[in-house]
Amino acid sequence: MNADSTVVIVGAGQAGSEFAAELRTLGFPGRVVMVGDEAELPYKRPPLSKGYLTGSVTPDQLPIRSAAVHEKNRIEFIAGVSATAIDRAAKTVTLSDGQTIAYTKLALTTGGRARPLPIPGADLGNVLSLRSVADAAAIRERLVEGRSLVIIGGGYIGLEIAAVAVKKGLKVTVLESAPQVLARVTAPEISEFYTRVHREEGVDIKLGVQIAALVGEGAVSGVRLVDGSIINADAVIVGIGLIPNCELAAAAGLAVDNGIVVDEHGQTSDPDIYSAGDCANRPSALLGGRVRLESVPNAMEQARYAARAIMGQPKAYDELPWFWSDQYELKLQMCGLSSGFDQLVVRGSTANRTFSAFYLKQGKVIAADAVSQLRDFGLMKKLVAARATVPAERLADESVSMKDLVAEAGV
Ligand code: FAD
Ligand code: NAP
Repeated sequence: MNADSTVVIVGAGQAGSEFAAELRTLGFPGRVVMVGDEAELPYKRPPLSKGYLTGSVTPDQLPIRSAAVHEKNRIEFIAGVSATAIDRAAKTVTLSDGQTIAYTKLALTTGGRARPLPIPGADLGNVLSLRSVADAAAIRERLVEGRSLVIIGGGYIGLEIAAVAVKKGLKVTVLESAPQVLARVTAPEISEFYTRVHREEGVDIKLGVQIAALVGEGAVSGVRLVDGSIINADAVIVGIGLIPNCELAAAAGLAVDNGIVVDEHGQTSDPDIYSAGDCANRPSALLGGRVRLESVPNAMEQARYAARAIMGQPKAYDELPWFWSDQYELKLQMCGLSSGFDQLVVRGSTANRTFSAFYLKQGKVIAADAVSQLRDFGLMKKLVAARATVPAERLADESVSMKDLVAEAGV
C-alpha cells in the first residue's frame, strides 16, 4: 500500500469509523474514502435506546469522531449516499449519486437493519423500529407521560426502551414470543430476574405471546393477539432483531451466509475486499465455529484487525466477545457465548440486584453475566477467555474473591 492507494469504506458506522482511524494510526499514506448512506458523521448507537431517550445524552455527544478528527486524519467522507454496486473486475464502487470510485482495497462495514414485523398492520402510523438516530428521535417524541406503548420483542432494544418509557410515566407492555426475555443470550434464571425487575418497575411483560395483527385507522391503536384480545397502543415499537446488510456483497458475488463470510483477518472471498461489524460472519476457534456478532466491541476490534491485514501486519482476530445493556440502574455485562452450557452457577443474590452468573460446559467456564459488578467483570473475562476449570462451589462462594479465583485457575 502506497500513497497512490485508495481504501474505500462502505458504511459509516462503528466499524467503518474504526477502520478509517486505524488505517491512519498504522500509517496508511493513501486516500481513505468513507461512504455512508446516513447524513450524520459516524455515531454511537448504544445511547439511542438509553441516554438519548432520557435526554442525558445530547445529539452533539453521539459522533464517534468529530469532523475535525476526520479532517486531521484526511478521511474523505461522502455522506447521505449509498453504494449501489461493486465491480470487482474493474475494482470500482458505484454510488447512488452516480459517482464511481476506484479502490485498491474495499471495506464493507454496512451493519444491519431492523427486522420488519411480518404481520398485517405493521405499516400503520406510529409503528416504529430503532436503528438510526432519526428512528430514536421519532421514538423520543412519542414518549409522553400517560400514553400506552406496546413493545414487540423482549430483546435488548425492547427492554432498554421499556425501562426508559416506564420511568417517563407511560403505560408499557412488552410482548415476547419466546417463554423468556433475552432468550438467546441468557439463562432462564437471568431472564427471570430481568422479567421480575421490569414487572416491579411497572412494565407489563407478556411471554409466549403470538401477535395476529396491528390494528388502527391510519395510525396504530392496538395490537391484536391470536387469542383475539386487543392491547391498546398509542405507539408500537418493534424490536425483533436485525437483518445484516449483505445485499451489496451478495450482488457482487462475494460469499454470504448469515453475513458476509470473512476469514480471521476480515478478508472476504475476494482478497481485495474486507468486511467487519454486524454484517460480517467470521470464524472463531475460541467460540468453536463461525459467528456473526452484533456489538460495539466486536465491530471495533474486527475493523482494527482488518485494517492491520490491509497494511500487511496481519494478526488473527479471535477476541473474547462481550456485551452490555443498561436497564434502570442495572448494568448488565456479558462475556463469551453461553449456548451449550450444562451448568449455571450464580454468585451472589438476585434479590439485591447485584450478582453474577457463570455458564459452565463440562466444568469449563464458557461465559459469564455480571449484573452491576463493574469491579469484577475484567476478572470474569479472564476466566472465560481461558476456559478455566473452577469448581462450582468456589465460583458460588462470595467469600472467595474473584482475584483469588483467577489466581487459583492460573490465568
Ligand atoms: P452500523 O453502526 O449499523 O453502521 C453501518 C452503517 O452502514 C450504517 O450507517 C448504514 O446505514 C450504512 N450502510 C449500510 N449499507 C450501506 C450502503 N450500501 N452504502 C452506504 N452506507 C451503507 N452494542 C453494544 O455493544 N452495546 C450496546 O449497549 C448497544 N446498544 C445498541 C442500541 C441500539 C439502539 C442499537 C441500534 C444498537 C446497539 N448496539 C449495542 C449494537 C451496536 O450499535 C452495533 O453492533 C454496531 O453499531 C455495529 O457497527 P457496524 O459498523 O457494524 O454497523
Ligand atoms: P435482539 O436482541 O435480537 O432481540 C429480538 C427479540 O425479539 C428476541 O427476544 C426475539 O425472540 C424477539 N422476537 C423475534 N421475533 C418476534 C416476534 N415476531 N414477536 C415477538 N418477539 C419476537 O434484537 P433487538 O433487541 O431488536 O436489537 C436489534 C439490534 O440492536 C441487535 O443487533 C442488538 O444487538 C442491538 N442492540 C444491542 C443493545 C445492547 O447490546 N445493549 C441494545 C439495543 C440494541 P427470539 O430470540 O425467540 O427470536
